[in-house]
Amino acid sequence: SVYLDNAASTKIRKEVLDYLVECLEKYYANPSSVHSMGRESRVMLEKARATVASLLNVKTQDILFTSGATESNNLAIRGLLSKTDKKEIITSNIEHSSILKLMNRLSDEGYIVHYVKTLPNGQVDVEDLKKYLNTNTALVSVMAVNNETGVRQPIDKISKLLANTGIYFHVDGAQLLGKMEVDPYLLGIDSMTGSAHKFYGPKGVGVLYLRDDIPVEKLIYGGPQERNKRAGTENLDAILASAYALELAYKNMKDERAYIKELNRYLLSKLSDKCIVNGENRIDDILSIQVKGKNIQTLLPMLDMKGIMVSGGSACMSGSLSASPVLIAMGLSEEEANSSIRVSLGLHNTKEEIDYFIDCLEKM
Ligand code: PMP
Repeated sequence: SVYLDNAASTKIRKEVLDYLVECLEKYYANPSSVHSMGRESRVMLEKARATVASLLNVKTQDILFTSGATESNNLAIRGLLSKTDKKEIITSNIEHSSILKLMNRLSDEGYIVHYVKTLPNGQVDVEDLKKYLNTNTALVSVMAVNNETGVRQPIDKISKLLANTGIYFHVDGAQLLGKMEVDPYLLGIDSMTGSAHKFYGPKGVGVLYLRDDIPVEKLIYGGPQERNKRAGTENLDAILASAYALELAYKNMKDERAYIKELNRYLLSKLSDKCIVNGENRIDDILSIQVKGKNIQTLLPMLDMKGIMVSGGSACMSGSLSASPVLIAMGLSEEEANSSIRVSLGLHNTKEEIDYFIDCLEKM
């Protein structure tokens, strides 16, 4: 099969898989146990934390491990909000459901949530965002890279707007971490999420950068793990493998990014006139492709029958029959949105696979 759904999840790197198995065998003691094996587990956990911190250029204490970007987004946003009396939140209408559903809930709880408009190029409209800033603004939450279009969001511009305002800045970095270097301190980001299964690590591990000087509320009550911010025995083996996956992503970034860029260029060069790519200023991994005259309800199963794995919108939205809200927010018609597939490239893909995909697509 031809797997072109890497934005939904990636195949674990072989080296990471081997290391994961090794860790499962070796470090089964609980990092909270005080005996020597427990202490060894603890040392490994803290090493992994230090590795991630150094890659992000932040303090070790700023890094927490969770179960994924969904939990990290919830923990960070609820945590930051627990530290202020201000009641207004600014976010975009193209966020992942782990942000949008939380926003719905927060609005039920009495917060005022403002949704910034999206420009036709797929970027959050910074001018529109400005209009909502006021003395009651507690937090701004905008993603780094959109998971359906791959469009890079203007995090740097937003960061400049928020400098010295005391407004918390949360960034959902699930589609960024491991693909591009990012410096949260430089950008004035208070919290940022990442997810190991998006960077060729195992599922079920979230990396959360959360400024340590903000003593946030817990989401789940229990033990004092993760600097008393995230209770429950750490998913140690998977965390160690995730830190290794991130280390490899950074170590190989130059070559691997060049490879994805080349696959992207190749795919674009092969697309016929019946295809339009949605959005601008995209990362090379994700392409939202409108296939004129087609509907994803028929296109996706037909591609699947040919062994081609792509998605319509994001995997998290599947099951819903309505058009992708992200594409609608960019100004696409319902018909255009419903004819758009998401193709997401990964390190394991080849040009031959792209040839096969294009060949099948053209025949549909
Ligand atoms: N945010 C974005 C932008 C994502 O793409 C995803 C993954 N679909 C998530 C959050 C959730 O990540 P996880 O699967 O680790 O909960």
